[in-house]
Amino acid sequence: MPNSTSKRRLWRDVRVFDGLRTLPEPMAVVTEGTRIASLVAMRDADENLVEGCSDMGRGGVMTPGLVDCHTHLVFGGGRADEFEARLEGASYEEIARRGGGILSTVRATREASEEELLALARPRLEALIADGVTTVEIKSGYGLDVASELKMLRVARRLGEELPVRVVTTLLGAHALPPEFKGDSDGYIDLVCREMVPAATQAGLADAVDVFCEKIAFSVAQCERVFVAAEAHGLPIKAHAEQLSNLGGTAMAARHGALSADHIEYLDAAGIAAMREAGSVAVILPGAFHTLRETQQPPIAALRKAGVPMAVATDANPGSSPLFMPTLMLNLACTLFRLTPQEALAGMTAHGATALGLAGQGRIREGAEADLCLWNVESPAGLAYAVQPGRLRQRLFQGELTHGN
Ligand SMILES: [Zn+2]
Repeated sequence: MPNSTSKRRLWRDVRVFDGLRTLPEPMAVVTEGTRIASLVAMRDADENLVEGCSDMGRGGVMTPGLVDCHTHLVFGGGRADEFEARLEGASYEEIARRGGGILSTVRATREASEEELLALARPRLEALIADGVTTVEIKSGYGLDVASELKMLRVARRLGEELPVRVVTTLLGAHALPPEFKGDSDGYIDLVCREMVPAATQAGLADAVDVFCEKIAFSVAQCERVFVAAEAHGLPIKAHAEQLSNLGGTAMAARHGALSADHIEYLDAAGIAAMREAGSVAVILPGAFHTLRETQQPPIAALRKAGVPMAVATDANPGSSPLFMPTLMLNLACTLFRLTPQEALAGMTAHGATALGLAGQGRIREGAEADLCLWNVESPAGLAYAVQPGRLRQRLFQGELTHGN
């Protein structure tokens, strides 16, 4: 191999969205090894800058590599039959009685081997990568027993070893009540706290711990017990909260210093104040809102006014968001929730990184990691404006070109 660690690459005349805003004039960008070495206005680019660089071309829009901070990419089975049944008029309850819904995914995930789950998840992650993702969070939550949850997390880790992408893992043991604990949700939470969290920590498989705080899942008090267990093991926490009702899970999670509260359609003023106080990120998931045909909008204007950073993610999963295209989420965040294109893009770069405990990443600035995308669009807003696969011209992951030439 040539000495790629010192290789310098130069892009000229690019419009740069730096993770928070679009820079006002055309820029020259130089990477060296795994880092961004220079970011200067074109009119200030001189001979010294260009010296020894390989020319990567001119024009286009450059963004940080996209950060998808909320996914459920590892799962067995599919739910297309259920999708059809619902369109033919079957109710959610009927589908559940036939063994459908999340528990059908749990069954298929438990039955699948680690190798099978890896083979199923790989093309899903490849789809995200082809649409610009360089950092992705992957949750467990379809195993719901210690061995199956660890199996899912091992698959997530292996995806990060086999593909050019940074994988951040989250233990979501408290996602749903497994059938063997029917009528004993406190007993299941005992298992999560006493066995699952310690086992995942000991194996080094979890970077964070998540819960589903909702009437159809776990109560605020049960979720708090999981957070206390996570804290005892030194793991950061986050929550699926206020998606279908306002239980106060977000405020409780914020009191525990949550990295993020996700969905939050029903979040109230007290919840927003708690998030601001804690520095938690609001993760907006328009894919689930769209798929479930929800009508309650997340409080975007109030979050914006409070200065709570908003991230945008795919929530890619087999049930409520079978949508594996991050740039579609930019579009949906704008069309459904009236985010500005800049806010949506910041939500999938800088703020997405913060939601994963990677504050300072998802940025284009000198010294930052060279995770970059160059797009064939007329402006950064163009990425949210149109839904059009194939616009990624080049992708760099840790300074290495993985797409384009
Ligand atoms: Zn989710």
